[in-house]
Amino acid sequence: MPKGVLLTICAPSGTGKSTLINMLIHEQPEFEFSVSCTTRPPRPGEVNGKDYYFVDPDEFISLRDRNFFAEWAKVHDNYYGTPGKEVENALDSGRSLIFDIDVQGALQLKKNMNTGLFVFVFPPSLKALEQRLLKRGTDDPETIRTRIRNAHHEISQSGLFDFWIINDNLETAFNDLKAIVRAEKLRPVYSPRLPGMILKGDTEP
Ligand code: ADP
Ligand code: 5GP
Repeated sequence: MPKGVLLTICAPSGTGKSTLINMLIHEQPEFEFSVSCTTRPPRPGEVNGKDYYFVDPDEFISLRDRNFFAEWAKVHDNYYGTPGKEVENALDSGRSLIFDIDVQGALQLKKNMNTGLFVFVFPPSLKALEQRLLKRGTDDPETIRTRIRNAHHEISQSGLFDFWIINDNLETAFNDLKAIVRAEKLRPVYSPRLPGMILKGDTEP
């Protein structure tokens, strides 16, 4: 069974994670998006089951207490969690998954999964971050203030990640992300049978 890449991407809200994730999934369809549960109300255009599973707080707490989540966290006043089944199924079937989760959740996954690639994406500056949140137009001014406040804490945790990307120029950031994925896939753990195949003459390097 080939092993999939479990790729976690963290960044302060508004940095451009969703943009980069969508670009990667578009170009490399073997990556699937890990759909989280959230108590946040849907934004215009968000689809239940595709962007998130939208649940109410009581349902979330009940799922959490039944160990439904591989990780969960309270982020910007709402609960978010990754269904454990998403992770188990990917590990069992060798599928590659992308997690768009916050720093607290990423660190829980890092501890619990013992595998995976953890990437932190920086905005070029806090000013640029605020401008992106304003431009996106999905959050009210109070929410934007909360998100900028949280960015300080998230950036202070960036040292716990495997790779850093700065999303200033989008194309450069995307190329950096692809380079990280490419390097990860060159690890022996993703092609454990290669030496045997070469020795038997089953393939060419
Ligand atoms: P996140 O998922 O991190 O919250 P989004 O992907 O929703 O962020 O991006 C926030 C906003 O910033 C969007 O309007 C997006 O089009 C824009 N954006 C993303 N990357 C860049 C970039 N490199 N330069 C300028 N704007 C960007
Ligand atoms: P948003 O409300 O903008 O979609 O997401 C807000 C924050 O919650 C982002 O940092 C996002 O990465 C994070 N998030 C989304 N899903 C999960 C999840 O399942 N677990 C955790 N810990 N954070 C999540």
